[in-house]
Amino acid sequence: MKIAYIGLGSNMHSPIKQIKSAIKLIEEIVSTEITDVSSLYKSKPVGPQDQDDYINAVVKIETELMPYELLERMQEIEKQHGRIRGERWGPRVIDLDILMFGNKIMTDQKLTIPHPEIHNRSFVLVPLAEIDSDCEIPGKGPISDLLATIDKSNVVQLQ
Ligand code: ATP
Ligand code: CA
Ligand code: CA
Ligand code: CA
Repeated sequence: MKIAYIGLGSNMHSPIKQIKSAIKLIEEIVSTEITDVSSLYKSKPVGPQDQDDYINAVVKIETELMPYELLERMQEIEKQHGRIRGERWGPRVIDLDILMFGNKIMTDQKLTIPHPEIHNRSFVLVPLAEIDSDCEIPGKGPISDLLATIDKSNVVQLQ
């Protein structure tokens, strides 16, 4: 059993509903249990600015799946939500990224773990810290150190 963290993001077609529905589908993945869910957060888009704000959340899971299997399950959920791949960092109905997978560090064409931008993104670090304020990101350091050096003002916790 491995502990992993999934980052969710949406800025199309009722983002809050998209995030909640994706969390339900994560719960349905075999050999995988959700053990914690962050609040929902609103953030400004990364990349192109001519798109709506994002809703983000982080989910903590325990899984027996291998990283590639988990990635496939995430991509299936994206497909079920009707995600069509458009411009890079453009609007999307749902995005599911594997943020961390145990203490694994790996990179190849399909999968980089931890997620390559995790340490730069307040919309990931803030919800992650809500779940595990003392977590250590493999190869990057304690989350508290990472959070101390980035701008958190564009991430707003929803009720
Ligand atoms: P970013 O990676 O900067 O957050 P994005 O999420 O918009 O951008 P996508 O178009 O969703 O990028 O994914 C592009 C590819 O990234 C996927 O096809 C997948 O193979 C690869 N990828 C690499 N590492 C990961 C990871 N940790 N989680 C999810 N996808 C990953
Ligand atoms: Ca399950
Ligand atoms: Ca992403
Ligand atoms: Ca992605």
